[in-house]
Amino acid sequence: MSDWFITQNRTAFRKRFFPEATRQMWSDWRWQLRHRFRDATSLARVLHLSDSEQTALDRHTQAIPWAITPYYAALMDPENPLHPLRRTLVPTLAEHIVTPGESIDPLDETTAIVAPNLIRRHIDRVVLLTTDLCAGYCRYCTRSRLVGEGKPITWEPALAYITTHPEIRDVLISGGDPLLLSTNRLECLLKRLRAIPHVELIRIGSRMPLLVPMRVTRKLVGMLKPYHPLGLSLHATHPDELTPEAGASLERLADAGILLAGQTVLLAGINDDLETLRTLMRGLVRHRVRPYYLYQCDPISGSGHFRVPVSRGLTLMEGLVGHLSGYAVPRYVIDAPGGGGKIPIAPATLAGREGDDLLIKNHLGQFYRYPDPEIEGEKPC
Ligand SMILES: *Cc1c(COP(=O)(O)O)cnc(C)c1O
Ligand code: SF4
Repeated sequence: MSDWFITQNRTAFRKRFFPEATRQMWSDWRWQLRHRFRDATSLARVLHLSDSEQTALDRHTQAIPWAITPYYAALMDPENPLHPLRRTLVPTLAEHIVTPGESIDPLDETTAIVAPNLIRRHIDRVVLLTTDLCAGYCRYCTRSRLVGEGKPITWEPALAYITTHPEIRDVLISGGDPLLLSTNRLECLLKRLRAIPHVELIRIGSRMPLLVPMRVTRKLVGMLKPYHPLGLSLHATHPDELTPEAGASLERLADAGILLAGQTVLLAGINDDLETLRTLMRGLVRHRVRPYYLYQCDPISGSGHFRVPVSRGLTLMEGLVGHLSGYAVPRYVIDAPGGGGKIPIAPATLAGREGDDLLIKNHLGQFYRYPDPEIEGEKPC
């Protein structure tokens, strides 16, 4: 589809479903948030709901809240409930089915809380939860136990903890989605963090540039710029999210010198085919986002229908490594249930040894030797 067609499509959507909204209103992120779809009746006006979607919305128990911005709804195929973008945000009955091994806090984050809203699993870095709100609620969210309540969150104890632990060099601002905070409030937090001398890197995790690209205003990037080095980990799921509007917001962030990293959850029927993954990873690089992690889907309660077998994930990785620019290849990781952290898994390339040679396999399945004599006495017999 051409950019022209996509943008036209959005304009037609606005005129049809929000006739009172001017282009300017549509382009205001707060308007987008205020006009989110949050009940079945209004969503049914724009999407032809399947029985599974309709029933899930009718008997919605708020286990995982749901909300969809008009902008993102306009990207969904109104006739196809299996449309990838639609499946990321529209509840279905499948999420009521809990499969073996799933739980509401599979990563045991609760046990890694060192101060209110501060998760620490590593010596040098921490995750700071700044809000429990998001623009839309991903059906596979690892933090679904926390999101959507709009609880006031205090940062003071977390900031005090970071201040008194000089070994912490890297703070990940997460949530929820931190870009849901007002620009002023986010600046207050950045200012406080930058005032801590040992904090070197600050990272923000967000899906906003793709759910509500209008959030990335000139005011926002202007505010961010003095707080370098600053990274933004972009939660990206499917190449259809990389619209001209999203592209413009990523360009703004990149032009402001923010390190952009892509994080993608591998999801069945959404992005678990080679063509889609390659298009997404190449698309991210084109927008100056370096694909960083491809996550195996966490065993969060009710996510079985999204999970892809690891063997398939590895096969997909084989189709990326060596076939795409190295810049476009993410690391495939499993966030270890129980709190072991992210563990990289990769297709096997070490085939063994023959005498003094190491046997290694390339991306075409061809074997090579590398001279690598074993040092005597090093190997236990
Ligand atoms: C993902 C994560 C981090 C950051 O890990 P990196 O590999 O440095 O990106 C830090 N703490 C926790 C608890 C995490 O889940
Ligand atoms: S944007 Fe992130 S925190 Fe919010 S629902 Fe999606 S995965 Fe969860």
